[in-house]
Amino acid sequence: MANRGTNEWISGLATLRATQRQPRVRRYATGPSIDAESPAADDEASPPADRTGHTRPRPMGIGRTTMPTQNEVVCYGCGFQFVVRGRTTVTQCPKCGARLSMKDETITGGFHEECVTAGKVTLTRSAIVDGGKITANDILLEGIIKSGQVRAHKMLTLAKGAELPEDLLDARSLKIGPEASFDFERTLELHDVEVCGELKARIKATGTVTVRASGHLLGQLMAKHLIVEEGGGLNCALDVQPNRTTWSSTEDATESTVAEPQARPLTEPPIIAPIAQATAGDTP
Ligand SMILES: [Zn+2]
Repeated sequence: MANRGTNEWISGLATLRATQRQPRVRRYATGPSIDAESPAADDEASPPADRTGHTRPRPMGIGRTTMPTQNEVVCYGCGFQFVVRGRTTVTQCPKCGARLSMKDETITGGFHEECVTAGKVTLTRSAIVDGGKITANDILLEGIIKSGQVRAHKMLTLAKGAELPEDLLDARSLKIGPEASFDFERTLELHDVEVCGELKARIKATGTVTVRASGHLLGQLMAKHLIVEEGGGLNCALDVQPNRTTWSSTEDATESTVAEPQARPLTEPPIIAPIAQATAGDTP
């Protein structure tokens, strides 16, 4: 009966070790012949064989060579962009000193409060935002925003079924989810744009606009870079210039690079007349 406490402690430790080992076991133990309990047999010289006798590929250094995750964070106080290593729920802006929440939040149902984080906010399909303030680095909108203040310091994703009054769209970059369809009247000034669904808009992008294979972009586009994946649709007045950094608010892609959308009436002389004359001159 001696050392009852120690025995309990040891048995507790063994249980803990067993639980810790569990996820690693599952990674490569697919059949009933589990070799995980014998780490000695699991060495470099003899890779584990399955029931058919074939050797299975060895998992490459799971959990040993992983680099700490690097998270680009934008301070919601001053807009400064910096990198945070590893997962954390709070950090401090190196520029303005503000203490920043890094928590990811999920909003469901009616909401009219304040939600401020340097993490990600997901507004589910049931979410209805009517008033309040949502500020996050990334926002995924699946539900409805009727009113309020919404700001994505990095990426705003509009999923299928999302509703957002266009004057409330305030994001650095925009992604249109698969099967989602949005039509904006106002000019959108963004950094990156990714279109997986359909987007009709007048866009000025200082970064890269990507139209995925499932995507379709319509309207006007002024951008630094443009990628259209095979299968993606593009029906735009284009002005893509890698060396440009800004477009003035009045500038128009149709003015600089693309002819007027409506063809001139055939009776109007300027373009047709000189060609007609030249042809007439050549013919005897
Ligand atoms: Zn700051």
